[in-house]
Amino acid sequence: MSEFLYSFNEGSRNMKGLLGEKGANLAEMTAMGLPVPFGFVVTTEACRKFFRDGNTIVESVMEQLHEKIQELEEVTGKKFGSGENPLLVSVRTSSVVNIPTMADTVLNLGLNDKTVSGLAKLGGSNEFALDSYSRFIRMYGSVVKKIPQAVFVSTYEKLKSKESLKTQYSEEELLYRTVEEYKKIILRKTGKPFPQEPYLQLKEVISAMLGYWNSYATMTYREFHEISRDIGVALVVQAMVFGNLDDDSCIGTVFTRDPRTGLKGTCGRFIVKAQGGDLPFADSVVRSIEEMEDFFPDVYRQFIKIAALLEKHYRDMQEIEFTVESGKLYMLQTKKGRRSPEAAIKIAVELVEEKIVDRKTAVAGIKSADVDKLIVDAFHMEAKMRPEVADNFRTIMTWVDEFRVMGVRANIDTPEDAGLALQMGADGIGLCRSEHMFFGEERIYDFIRLIMAESDRERSRALEVLRPYQTEDFRKIFLIMEDRPVTIRLLDPSLHKFMPKSEEEIRQLAGKLHMSEKKLAAKIKVMHEENPLMGKRGARLAVSYPDIARMQTEAIITAAIEAGREMDGMPDVSVMIPFVSTAREFSKVRSIVDEAAAACFEKMGETLDYSVGTMIETPRAALMSDKIAERADFFSFGTNDLTELVYGLSRSDTENLVEDYVKKDLLDRNPFYSLDQRGVGKLISMAASDGRKARPKLKMGLCGDHGGDAETIKFCRDIELNFVSCSTLRIPGARLAAAQAAIDASVKND
Ligand code: ADP
Ligand code: MG
Ligand code: MG
Repeated sequence: MSEFLYSFNEGSRNMKGLLGEKGANLAEMTAMGLPVPFGFVVTTEACRKFFRDGNTIVESVMEQLHEKIQELEEVTGKKFGSGENPLLVSVRTSSVVNIPTMADTVLNLGLNDKTVSGLAKLGGSNEFALDSYSRFIRMYGSVVKKIPQAVFVSTYEKLKSKESLKTQYSEEELLYRTVEEYKKIILRKTGKPFPQEPYLQLKEVISAMLGYWNSYATMTYREFHEISRDIGVALVVQAMVFGNLDDDSCIGTVFTRDPRTGLKGTCGRFIVKAQGGDLPFADSVVRSIEEMEDFFPDVYRQFIKIAALLEKHYRDMQEIEFTVESGKLYMLQTKKGRRSPEAAIKIAVELVEEKIVDRKTAVAGIKSADVDKLIVDAFHMEAKMRPEVADNFRTIMTWVDEFRVMGVRANIDTPEDAGLALQMGADGIGLCRSEHMFFGEERIYDFIRLIMAESDRERSRALEVLRPYQTEDFRKIFLIMEDRPVTIRLLDPSLHKFMPKSEEEIRQLAGKLHMSEKKLAAKIKVMHEENPLMGKRGARLAVSYPDIARMQTEAIITAAIEAGREMDGMPDVSVMIPFVSTAREFSKVRSIVDEAAAACFEKMGETLDYSVGTMIETPRAALMSDKIAERADFFSFGTNDLTELVYGLSRSDTENLVEDYVKKDLLDRNPFYSLDQRGVGKLISMAASDGRKARPKLKMGLCGDHGGDAETIKFCRDIELNFVSCSTLRIPGARLAAAQAAIDASVKND
């Protein structure tokens, strides 16, 4: 058996890497005894050899091709190049990974001025043969010579309109002229005549179709999606069958379940007297597959049986292509069917109910993008999930949590967010941004008064106004989350973020604060920072304004104890110190927090367990994680800031630049959406392992926009983080991704 060419009866579905998906499935169907027109696969190994040999099919491979064609001649009883009973083949791309830039299928290869009359004898009509010939020339021109299909189509249209004026010309005459015109197009555009010799046609078509693997478009796509060049592409060479032969012939595409709704039962369409891939000339009627029973009752029943068999065999919804030639059914393709998000979850649930797959397989097969889409549609478009969809969704998410190991928490701002997080199935709150609570209508002025305070008295008065707001918000959040972990981050952003920008705003604020506009403007100027993302923020604020950190801690502890009394059990409380860059700085702020908590316990006559940890979001904190871990109870990797600082890229200033870099292939993808695992990830993995060495029980998670990204979640599992935290609507998708990461890991350890 040559590694380069595999006959259909030599392969199986497990050989996708060598035969491509289409080839492997055609081999599988052949082994199942289904009626598949015979053929062979030009393997990915042959593809690699083709490029090693300087983009040519060398003589030895050409000889093997001859042998395979001879085998096809024996099986079909037809002859390549024969004017009596010609063998015609299709050449089809068979991808290992789906890439949209591959070549289209070439049908009717082997037709020439001589064999076309042989084909006419088969169908009993010259029209059928000439029509097939013209299609072949058109596809040859488009796939091999890269002449746009439109050139051929417009030539045909012109001929047709001319002919219709002079009605004495027959359909046959029109097609004959079309063939002649098409040949002229090839000659005119390439300087070479359309090749008449079938083996030369085969060599040219195979070379050209393999060539698409290294086209500029494919290379760009491959690099963007990190697909290795070595994977290669396979081709299928298969004996033609003719759905356009006569009125007893048709072509069809069918799903074994409805790809839109997931409803069980075949769903698709068929066209009487047509050939696949001929959309430009399709003036035929497209019928729904049920109608096929009226046209071809026997073939229909045979097909329905085969479709059910294939779904059972592959244990998934299939997308199937078939052709009927003069009342005889041929299977041309089967593959995992495309489906809508709604269909995806329905099919998964029902395949489990029907005992076709187990829960693990069902969960592993769903895309987290589909789950995201269902949630986003239900919430943003106000479409609301239909009850049946919601049921399936719940079922899937219950299964997801059976396999999930890593925690999935929510990033929130308000008690309302906490409610939504719970509804989305969050295990807890990974990040509650406390500053957002100051942004309310009136609260913002009180907060500004705090920042502007010129004396201790003024400051403490402002703090006392704010304290009840914060306490109340935290209390509500604790009550909603009950005993689930809630991590509250102390004030993080640079204070001038809260300041007015325009003159009008300054005028209004001055009025509110009973302050002169001039004085307010001067204050704002003093607070201005050139680079606020690296300015006085995070832990630095707590060092400069310990009162604020103290008040926030007291609000957290008071709220927790109050909620605990109401709930009969204390909440699980963590205080998170943001934007730390040194261990001493962390210790300093931690002592402010611990002292404030102690004072609170004293006052309330009750204590509770709480932890204090930090965000690792500056490169230095990551580098010094062992030292910080000696004093911190947990880490949460703040990947937004960390990515900016590791790259030296300001996210808000460089959106266009990053896009441009991705286009120019200088970046694989936007590192603010999916974690840069090689660079930023290297730092995180090092910081995690150093931190764990210093404190084996250190809890670690990742919060930041990356927390909802499936690839990033897989990475977090690999470095054994305890949880990810993401925005509320991404939680179901993140739970699925975490389950899939766990399933992946368990398979690898099998
Ligand atoms: P795609 O990968 O885009 O689905 P295919 O290779 O399946 O492309 O081919 C496109 C069309 O040509 C399909 O309708 C298919 O059924 C038809 N086709 C391919 N090979 C043959 C063949 N040997 N005989 C008849 N029709 C064929
Ligand atoms: Mg197909
Ligand atoms: Mg941050």
